[in-house]
Amino acid sequence: MAAPVELLMLENFIGGKFIPCNSYIDSYDPSTGEVYCKVPNSGKEEIEAAVQAAREAFPGWSSRSPQERAQVLSRVADLLEQSLEELAQAESKDQGKTLTMARTVDIPRAVHNFRFFASSVLHHTTECTQMDHLGCLHYTVRTPVGIVISGNLPWKITEKRMMPRIDSDPRTSKRLLPITNKKKKKTGKTSALDSGIAGLISPWNLPLYLLTWKIAPAIAAGNTVIAKPSELTSVTAWMLCKLLDKAGVPPGVINIVFGTGPRAGEALVSHPEVPLISFTGSQPTAERITHVSAPHCKKLSLELGGKNPAIIFEDANLEECVPTTVRSSFANQGEICLCTSRIFVQKSIYSEFLKRFVEATRTWKVGVPSDPSACMGALISKAHLEKVRSYIKRAHAEGAHILCGEGVDKLSLPLRNQEGYFMLPTVITDIKDESCCMQEEIFGPVTCVVSFDTEEEVIRRANSVKYGLAATVWSSNVGRVHRVAKKLQSGLVWTNCWLIRELNLPFGGMKSSGIGREGAKDSHDFFTEIKTITVKH
Ligand code: NAD
Repeated sequence: MAAPVELLMLENFIGGKFIPCNSYIDSYDPSTGEVYCKVPNSGKEEIEAAVQAAREAFPGWSSRSPQERAQVLSRVADLLEQSLEELAQAESKDQGKTLTMARTVDIPRAVHNFRFFASSVLHHTTECTQMDHLGCLHYTVRTPVGIVISGNLPWKITEKRMMPRIDSDPRTSKRLLPITNKKKKKTGKTSALDSGIAGLISPWNLPLYLLTWKIAPAIAAGNTVIAKPSELTSVTAWMLCKLLDKAGVPPGVINIVFGTGPRAGEALVSHPEVPLISFTGSQPTAERITHVSAPHCKKLSLELGGKNPAIIFEDANLEECVPTTVRSSFANQGEICLCTSRIFVQKSIYSEFLKRFVEATRTWKVGVPSDPSACMGALISKAHLEKVRSYIKRAHAEGAHILCGEGVDKLSLPLRNQEGYFMLPTVITDIKDESCCMQEEIFGPVTCVVSFDTEEEVIRRANSVKYGLAATVWSSNVGRVHRVAKKLQSGLVWTNCWLIRELNLPFGGMKSSGIGREGAKDSHDFFTEIKTITVKH
């Protein structure tokens, strides 16, 4: 009889401590289809404990200078970098992505997120304007997203709180001193309590990369956070928690509560003491979050899905365009919100492009995530694999042609991975713009190729979906590139390239692809409150 497999058990991280949960969810290795990890199935109780920890940590953390906070962020970056290989292995196993992708993209970017916001938080300025004829000066200040809570609280304050006190030595400016308030202890009442807790919810496709893209700017701005990663990919977030104490992150500044969207996610979103939610995920979940948070008038940042077009004009450099469009369609198994899923090719080069594109797609190797020659690993889950396959079946039923991939070519896998969630990159053609494959986000390795005649026509067709996240335009005519980029309803447009990111600039989508932007200034704006002050002199 085979020895029982020891499962990895995750725990919530609340107030600087790992805390077990009453119930757990199975987490699967997508490359084998086997359960290998147990994720806490948290709910209201765990979120309540995290709110308490985040609230208690807020006065101390928010009163540190940006320089002091930046030092802590930089130390987190260093420690993540030292664990890069271990984290990459874990991310690849948990998500199904290739180890190469985790090693070269996911974890380096998580490191960079902390370094980037450690630096950018030091360079923000605020506005000031004069009104001399009225003898007034106006200026703005930014503070963490604190809310002031008054009156009866639904909990009892039983522990010492750390409050900032001005130290007599001006060189050390503020120092944390413990205070206790006997009256509060007895009655559970407080007259005014600052609380600046940011709720962060992230998806499964780029687990640590996207989670740290939220944690870093939120804490850099002086907030404390409660993060809920996807229940499908929780492992690297848990590993991050192990580094926080060594990095000097005070207990309660970063709390991570694991669990499903409907339980842990909604408990966070509906909590009255969490005034801000930064969410990355799907559009239907964003609708639900908007609904649940509406009674509390929360500040929301919503980074959602896409149905991203690539527009390829007849003067495009196909040597660069073809391999880049294969990558933009199938990188990370097509599980990136920015992946191309509609390719519009000008009629005069349509056949040539299609021939070269299908040839190149067939060389895009699907393999076990640890295979260094694999370009694509496994999809995230069985349910997702079935959903992606169902789109191909529907396209086929509508009369579209499947040129390569699913149902056309054979995928060979080692015996151990036969139950894994693998599929081949798939190219569909002869498909109508109204088809679900051309309208809905599939979020897998499936792309549609269609032809067009004119610039006006392709702009109209590219814009004819509910999403507006990212687009690519290929042409050697500079005037056309500018003209088309400007008319596309898309938060991001890459011309003659894909996925070159400048973190200083706004990132986000239009229409159903989201509300708000992230980036150096945009994230800082989101994670702070602005106030206009007028001084009559
Ligand atoms: P999802 O919406 O199912 O889940 C995202 C997160 O929300 C998870 O942590 C989940 O547990 C949580 N959640 C689910 N229901 C919830 C609820 N009722 N209340 C609170 N939280 C809830 O999305 P997914 O399947 O994990 O990710 C794929 C989606 O994310 C795709 O649509 C993709 O395009 C999008 N995405 C967007 C970006 C971007 O930057 N725009 C980046 C990556 C992924």
